[in-house]
Amino acid sequence: MLKVHILDRCGECSGESMVFVGMDMDQNGQPFKRYRACGQCAGSGLKPRWVSLRELADLLGAEELRSAEQVLEVLLPVMHEQKKQEALMARLNERLQVLHNHPELGEQMID
Ligand SMILES: [Zn+2]
Repeated sequence: MLKVHILDRCGECSGESMVFVGMDMDQNGQPFKRYRACGQCAGSGLKPRWVSLRELADLLGAEELRSAEQVLEVLLPVMHEQKKQEALMARLNERLQVLHNHPELGEQMID
């Protein structure tokens, strides 16, 4: 199965990068919430994860998928064209190589 590596939101801190530890008092006797950096994601709020393409599609949602489709629609014909050109160049180079090695074949080689 094809899987892709993504940076997902850290489950431990919900992507906040800090974890609530408890209430504390400051020097004026005022209560405040004490936090510590999340140990799970080293304070980045992100966690690397391998997901299937199906899962990735779900994560991206319909809107992003439509944009991805649009990008692919533009890219695929270009890539296809590029492949065709590469194949053509390879054939030409092959013929040039043959001509170089056997100049007597000359005109017969030209389509
Ligand atoms: Zn975290």
